[in-house]
Amino acid sequence: MIERIRELLNREPAEIPVTAQGWVRTKRDTKHVTFLEVNDGSCLKSLQVIIDRNSREVTDTLNRVSTGASVSCTGRLAESPGKNQKVELHADTIELIGEAPPESYPLQKKRHSFEFLREIAHLRPRTNTIGAVARVRNAMSRAVHTFFQERDFLYIHTPIITTSDCEGAGEMFQVTTLPLNQVPMREGSPDYSRDFFQKPANLTVSGQLEAEIYALAMTNVYTFGPTFRAENSNTSRHLSEFWMIEPEMAFCTLEGNMEVAESFLKYVFSHVLETCREDMEFFNQWIQKGVIDSLSSVAEGVFTRMTYTDAVKELTAAPVSFEYPVSWGADLQSEHEKYLTEQVCRGPVIVTDYPREIKAFYMLLNDDEKTVRAMDVLVPRLGEIIGGSEREYRYDVLTRRILESGLDPKDYWWYLDLRRYGTVPHAGFGLGFERAVQYVTGMQNIRDVIPFPRAVGSAEF
Ligand code: ATP
Ligand code: MN
Repeated sequence: MIERIRELLNREPAEIPVTAQGWVRTKRDTKHVTFLEVNDGSCLKSLQVIIDRNSREVTDTLNRVSTGASVSCTGRLAESPGKNQKVELHADTIELIGEAPPESYPLQKKRHSFEFLREIAHLRPRTNTIGAVARVRNAMSRAVHTFFQERDFLYIHTPIITTSDCEGAGEMFQVTTLPLNQVPMREGSPDYSRDFFQKPANLTVSGQLEAEIYALAMTNVYTFGPTFRAENSNTSRHLSEFWMIEPEMAFCTLEGNMEVAESFLKYVFSHVLETCREDMEFFNQWIQKGVIDSLSSVAEGVFTRMTYTDAVKELTAAPVSFEYPVSWGADLQSEHEKYLTEQVCRGPVIVTDYPREIKAFYMLLNDDEKTVRAMDVLVPRLGEIIGGSEREYRYDVLTRRILESGLDPKDYWWYLDLRRYGTVPHAGFGLGFERAVQYVTGMQNIRDVIPFPRAVGSAEF
């Protein structure tokens, strides 16, 4: 395999010939020589290639080279007079591998809007921004695995097709092989006994319940996989298909859960700051000013802990007027979360013990019977980044909570079985991966931090 441009850019000038391959970003001709910026995705920077048009053959080839073309250039690495790079390639030979006719190539060298780039998602990884996002996303997913693997968590592959609904909420994509033009009916509803799974099935909205099964055998586990929500919300923070990280720990209460969540975020952010310096400086300069500082301060700062009840006290005493009123029992809105983390705590804060009515049925009920052992991790600039809880591990209480939520305990028989046989306190949390990538890069729209975004009316590529 040939060396990547990132390696070449870090080399010292030398006489031995090297070959660089990539896609042309720009071409500039002077009287006798041609300058090419060649990028291969290994890093943000392109390699400057300088070619003497000293033969008919080279000139003919260069005439057909334009932005977007793929080339292979061989020559020696020379010291570069430019201040942006240490070396440049003085090429003797250039091979044009694939042309990119300028009259039709959509990605000419100029600023394109992210909206336009989404329409050419097959070409957009060739841009600086989307390329940098891809590298940061890769570094973050590696850090996720390394963090858990170093701590002896098992990676569990939870199913994508399920017949249970984790949150008891709607908004799921149904999976069916029933003929849509003639659905077999029984007593006025579709006859699911004739469907593929012989009951209604959906794409998963969360791997948590299945992760709990494995935690109650393997102790510490995590999932990291795609989840699906058919919510009809056209926001800059919602996708129909997104990736979620969900650790689950047995013999663990909310205190342990908070410690893991805090060290997890710090680990992932530090890893990106250390390994993606150049890309992060790009985001800091062009996408979100101050993003590096805000990540460093989360990575190095203390995470305050505060109960929901205290948070509501802080908010009602706050000398500002919120758009949404604050009262005990209501969910915290984004503006409230930001105020808590930016103004009250001046750093990350973990809010715990929320009213039971606004949280899921599986969260451990506190002795006050009013609140549950839930936690939300809030960070400056965003608000909630992680949501988690200690799980209800008492059979009777869980059955009661399922009923109260309007769900049928029969549908959760295996989930309840875990509380009948060898139950233990356990806890976990969920992090939406794209939300985290958005936070780290400062990208405004979630559709630009996943390679192929799926949202209402959009599933091209
Ligand atoms: P939101 O209020 O933002 O819609 P949620 O309360 O529906 O979030 P959860 O059900 O707690 O979210 O899901 C866990 C995590 O998954 C969230 O904290 C968020 O990071 C992420 N998430 C939820 N919905 C989406 C979505 N449609 N697209 C991308 N990420 C999402
Ligand atoms: Mn939601």
